[in-house]
Amino acid sequence: MTKCDKCHSRSIIHQRYSGMRLCTTHFQEDVRRKVREDLRKTGLFGRGACVAIGLDGGWGSAVLLQIMQDIFSRRRDIDLVAITVVEGEAGTPHCDQAFDQARQLAKRLNVHHIVAPLDYAEIPGEAPGCRDLADRKMDRLMDEARAQGASILATGHSLDSVAGEVFLKFLQGDVDGLFQRQDPSGQLHHIRPLQRIPEREMRLYALQCDLLPANSKGHDRSSRDDLRQQVRRHLGGFDSRHPGTNYSLLRSLERIHLLRGVNASGAKPLSDDRK
Ligand SMILES: [Zn+2]
Repeated sequence: MTKCDKCHSRSIIHQRYSGMRLCTTHFQEDVRRKVREDLRKTGLFGRGACVAIGLDGGWGSAVLLQIMQDIFSRRRDIDLVAITVVEGEAGTPHCDQAFDQARQLAKRLNVHHIVAPLDYAEIPGEAPGCRDLADRKMDRLMDEARAQGASILATGHSLDSVAGEVFLKFLQGDVDGLFQRQDPSGQLHHIRPLQRIPEREMRLYALQCDLLPANSKGHDRSSRDDLRQQVRRHLGGFDSRHPGTNYSLLRSLERIHLLRGVNASGAKPLSDDRK
């Protein structure tokens, strides 16, 4: 039996990037610690706020909702609202398994849940498919968050997802694209509190906490197009051969933000996450 590096229980995961072997308890503690630290570094939670959480029925958003509910349930000045963007016309949104899971989870965690239909007809002069679906969903999510009076929008992007985006932007020579879409009014801050959690750990955490059914697709809906999927696949292979690659990409993003003197989320720099 391989033991946890922090206690004598059986280890259930080996984090190759940190060298740590952790038991269930210490693994979950590690995930929550990283999320808490990331939230604290944004400097946005010092006083009351309405926080919108993008809930797409996937693993990341489920983990995010559970951890944020756990952290903020005792804060009377912080209101959480979960928002699910659903494709289809306003009257008849197309609701699938992912949507049902999102709704059930919000109910179970006792978080107010809003459904935001993504109606193509609402976007003037724009036909479906001419812009990335993930971008359109993100715009819709931000609109709904503002409509709900939120000042913070949190989404469940994993380390793999954020690192993949950074890598893709480099491949495309799109340095400007490394900056998250900012709210023109400056009222809404977009944060990604799971950006230090590798996808496999996110999924493991969700399964351990019984957040989604084990057979759930829990797909990352931002990776529908080919190039993104290729990048994710190659980067995944590279990161498994060279543990820590994804963290390096995350740090390069942070460094670029610093050099430009901007941080899209208003957050202070991330710390070194290898330990
Ligand atoms: Zn332990």
